[in-house]
Amino acid sequence: RIDQAVRQARRTKDAVAVIMLDLDRFKMVNDSLGHALGDELLRIVARRLMGLVRETDTVARFGGDEFVVLLTGISQTEDVRIIAGKILASVADPYEVAGREISLTASLGISLYPADGCDSTTLIRNADTAMYQSKKQKDHFCFYSTEMNSHMLETLELEAALRQALEREEFELHYQPKVCLASGQVNGCEALLRWRRPQFGLVSPAQFIPLAEETGLIVPIGAWVLREACRQNRAWQHQGLPAISVAVNLSARQFRKGDLADLVKQVLTASTLDPAHLELELTESMIMDNPIGAQQSLHELKALGVSLSLDDFGTGYSSLNYLRRFPVDYLKIDQSFIRDIVSDRSGASVVASIISIAHNLHLEAIAEGVETREQLEFLMASGCDSMQGYYFSKPLPAPDFADLLASARSLADLSS
Ligand code: C2E
Ligand code: MG
Ligand code: MG
Repeated sequence: RIDQAVRQARRTKDAVAVIMLDLDRFKMVNDSLGHALGDELLRIVARRLMGLVRETDTVARFGGDEFVVLLTGISQTEDVRIIAGKILASVADPYEVAGREISLTASLGISLYPADGCDSTTLIRNADTAMYQSKKQKDHFCFYSTEMNSHMLETLELEAALRQALEREEFELHYQPKVCLASGQVNGCEALLRWRRPQFGLVSPAQFIPLAEETGLIVPIGAWVLREACRQNRAWQHQGLPAISVAVNLSARQFRKGDLADLVKQVLTASTLDPAHLELELTESMIMDNPIGAQQSLHELKALGVSLSLDDFGTGYSSLNYLRRFPVDYLKIDQSFIRDIVSDRSGASVVASIISIAHNLHLEAIAEGVETREQLEFLMASGCDSMQGYYFSKPLPAPDFADLLASARSLADLSS
């Protein structure tokens, strides 16, 4: 029908719109309410869609929870925008099924003939690309654009390169010192992943961790990070450098996998690192996703003798109730709060409050992203325990970090 509509539109000089619709989180509906109810919902959605378009348009179930709507005889894109808005509103209208009220939303991607393609294959593919874009927001529609395609291509290339990066040994760790505010001495470090991508240089984790997470590659990469950080820390001790702890960032996927404690145990044994010298960093969202399961996993990890910290604290959904019950040792105050310390008064109050919460729960507070003397002074006055940040040092390659550790450089050396 799309090809037929295109042939007709070629004669009439009209446009054709292909709308790809995917229901948001429909798997959850199916899993929690059962497939019979899921089927019933799909039928209602289909009826609602049919009710919105003209008789000459087409509504098709493409598969699963995906529908395609074909609109013909379009004279201006504004009309498509209006219909897309109506589709979203109509899908979002509450459903009454089996005596329950259920709400659903959809994500739509739209491609147009002639702008985005002249055949069904291309139009559907491009509508699908646009749909993936609106999925990021959900309850949204997006028109296809050529940039989306080049972005998709880039992502595919990145993924292919990332798959080979481990075996080609393109990853390395940089280490950022953590400094004790009372003594001014380095008391630990955080291992931060870097990818030396051929022809691209050093790539920061912000650019590839989300993709690694999405594709599951983070599991083998994360295991490598853990092994390498423990090996390196033990190697420094063998070189006679002061014994410090190394903090390793964990990703949601690794945490959810369930065999994390086994992995950590195995890595500690292989590296002969004292568990007291390993810290694991988690984020609130990782824990709040599944608080009961997380509590169990955290206790398993704690039982190994490692410490746990909550990274980026304050940026996610924090539940003080859970915080109280989770066996964590440190709260890492996110750098966005540290940045606001001197710029506005409420920023300073937030930081001071997080430090109090930490202390009242018998946790230590670590400030991240400390860049200036003023920020440092405020943190010291507020009783913060440790800090990390460019003010003391950027993350360093392993040999440079070893030099820093050997030099016993302290905060006092900076003020003079
Ligand atoms: P994070 O764990 O919160 O790490 C702190 C980030 O802040 C690091 O960025 C660090 O370089 C940066 N930073 C430190 N001091 C300052 C400062 O004074 N000013 C500013 N502007 N930035 C500072 P990086 O290395 O790019 O890492 C970004 C994020 O990537 C990390 O945030 C962490 O969530 C993730 N990540 C890094 N390595 C790993 C890893 O091995 N595994 C996993 N799963 N995630 C990682
Ligand atoms: Mg971290
Ligand atoms: Mg952080």
